[in-house]
Amino acid sequence: MKKTIEKAILPLNHARVTAGYKNPSYAKKMGFKHYGIDMADRSRECVDVYAPFKMKIVKVGDDNVMGKTLIAVSINSIDVHNGPKKGSRPLTLRLAHLAKVHVEEGDVVVPEGAKIADYGSTGIHGNSPHLHVELDTDVEHPTYSPTLARSSNIWKAGKDTTINPMDVFKVDSEGERGYEQSLTHAKSSGSWVLDDDKTTLGLNGKVITGKGV
Ligand SMILES: [Zn+2]
Repeated sequence: MKKTIEKAILPLNHARVTAGYKNPSYAKKMGFKHYGIDMADRSRECVDVYAPFKMKIVKVGDDNVMGKTLIAVSINSIDVHNGPKKGSRPLTLRLAHLAKVHVEEGDVVVPEGAKIADYGSTGIHGNSPHLHVELDTDVEHPTYSPTLARSSNIWKAGKDTTINPMDVFKVDSEGERGYEQSLTHAKSSGSWVLDDDKTTLGLNGKVITGKGV
């Protein structure tokens, strides 16, 4: 049987990146390393979060540190187009600071389906409403994240097997999966967003560099 390799799309259709993966300025200011990326809707009006790939929801709930949370594991191998883990592999997705979750544990969801969550500002580092996204190559222990030094009620303290989400997420700019997505980054974030966080591919393989807004 041929293995299905799926291309992931952005979880927000008009994603504006506000803080990058393992960003040094972020670590200096916050006192801990950023093992994911932060993004919000470009207009700050839409809070809809969609599945970036076909995935099974493994955990939903209120985490004492990370806020309302959704954790899922991909069904297919996901294309990684850049970085040290380039290739394809199954991935874990962890979302934090959600306002609402519209799916349940055990559900299998696809990008083309209904929205899975609303992002928000729950959790102790929620600040202004945004989505914190982590992608992890460890699919055996989906609730374990290097973000936590000590385990919380849902998120557990784990080793770093994360991957830069911008090495994985593509922009569905032509609406192949139902959305005409766009990528931008927050000019106001300054050094919290570096070149790596501004550039990815379209689903058609074309390089897309988001402008600062
Ligand atoms: Zn974050």
